[in-house]
Order: sequence, then C-alpha cells, then structure tokens
Amino acid sequence: MSQAPIRLVIFDLDGTLYRGSEPTPHAASALVRLREARIAVRAFTNNSGATAQDLSHKLTSMGLPFGEDEVLGTGMLAADLCLARGWSEVLAIGEPGLHACLTEAGVDSQSARPQAVIAGICRSLTYGLLDRGLQALVGDASFVATNRDATYPLEQGRIEPGAGAIVAALEACSGIEPYVLGKPSPDGVTALIRGAEVSPTETVVVGDRLDTDLAAAVHAGARGLLVLTGVTSSAPAGIDAITDLGALPAWIERA
Ligand SMILES: [Mg+2]
Repeated sequence: MSQAPIRLVIFDLDGTLYRGSEPTPHAASALVRLREARIAVRAFTNNSGATAQDLSHKLTSMGLPFGEDEVLGTGMLAADLCLARGWSEVLAIGEPGLHACLTEAGVDSQSARPQAVIAGICRSLTYGLLDRGLQALVGDASFVATNRDATYPLEQGRIEPGAGAIVAALEACSGIEPYVLGKPSPDGVTALIRGAEVSPTETVVVGDRLDTDLAAAVHAGARGLLVLTGVTSSAPAGIDAITDLGALPAWIERA
C-alpha cells in the first residue's frame, strides 16, 4: 500500500477536540506531535455562530492552541461565498457570530432587499424572521444553509434544535432547497486543503460523525478517521477508527 504521506490533518471540534468545555483525552499531545512532525493542523466546525477569533480563543483557552488562520466555521464559509458570488446584501438568520463574519467581509447581513438568505442556528428565531426569509426566497433570493445538523449537542448529552431545524422550516414554506456549506458538503475541507497548499490525498479529516465528518472527507477526496470520543460509539467494518486522539495511526505520523 503506497499512499501519499499526510501533510494536513483537519479536526472536527465538538466530540473530537473537545466535549463541552473539556478537551478530549490526549488532544493536546496529539496536536504537539503533529506540529513537531511538520504536519499542518486545522479545526473545522459546522457551527456558524463563531468567528475565527471565537474559535481560536475557545480552543487555545482549553490548552489546544490554534491560530485564527487555522480555524474555520461555516459563518466564515458563508462570508467567503458572498464575496465569491458578489453578494453585498443578504438576510442572515443566525447568531451574532454569523452576522459578525458577514459584516467583517463587508456584507450587510440584515438587508431589506437581500440577494441571499443565509440560515444557521438562531436562538432568537421568530415567526417574523422566518417570514422575512420566506418573502426573500419567493422573491428570488438564493438560499444558503450553514449546515443541516438537526440538533446541537450541549453538556451531559442534552441537545437543542440545530441549524437543520431552521433550514427545514424555510425549506418547507418556500419549497426551495438550499445550498449547504457545512459537512457533509466538501466546501470547508476543500477550502482548507487549498489554503494549506496540499492535495486531498495528503489530507485526513478526523471526526466523530460518519454522516458529516467522514462523508465530507469522501466528498473532498481526502481520507477520513473516525474517533470514538463523540456521538459514535463503535466503528463499522471498513472504517479507520481510533478510541481517542492518543491513538493516531502510524500512517498519519509517518512523514
Ligand atoms: Mg463532532
């Protein structure tokens, strides 16, 4: 088996690098070892409510140092999409962090004449906001979902409605299917691969979910590694899996 050496490791956050406010076992030492082996590390979350500063600060304060240029959330991906498509006016249905990502990119996130509706997790969702989204969509605005995660994990196994629940509401009333940015779509993984100037075959995505993290790896042409510290408790046959980040396989660290 002669596969390309790994030059980039993209970690999921929730259930992979940390659980709640605690790093997962051996996450910190795994990062040190990879950096010492000159393997680039990045952190990519489907969460749209966090800016690069938020993500870098949260990880670093847990003893998992990541620079602002080493983290990616779907709010940042949404801002990049607006720039790529030339959208300066959108209606964002989301947390303050999503609005901050868009504003930072020079995009009006609360436009009365939006070119796109960008929907993510939104704890201040109202009927009025859903209605504004619907009117924009039937008036020909593009529809972008930060992700389709139905629920969002909290401490002690509790869950709350995720972006997918809000996206589904807009989809139901408009009959329009969104363009999805988050995993399992390959967009984020592909952007990180380009940014690190490596190839997909030199990249591995490490995550706790088969249907998002590992699916995104497949869609981007990268390798996937399942870690059993999050929502998945056993590995299906044929899937590379480890119990925690202390057990990174030799094929990653072989330079
Ligand atoms: Mg996860």
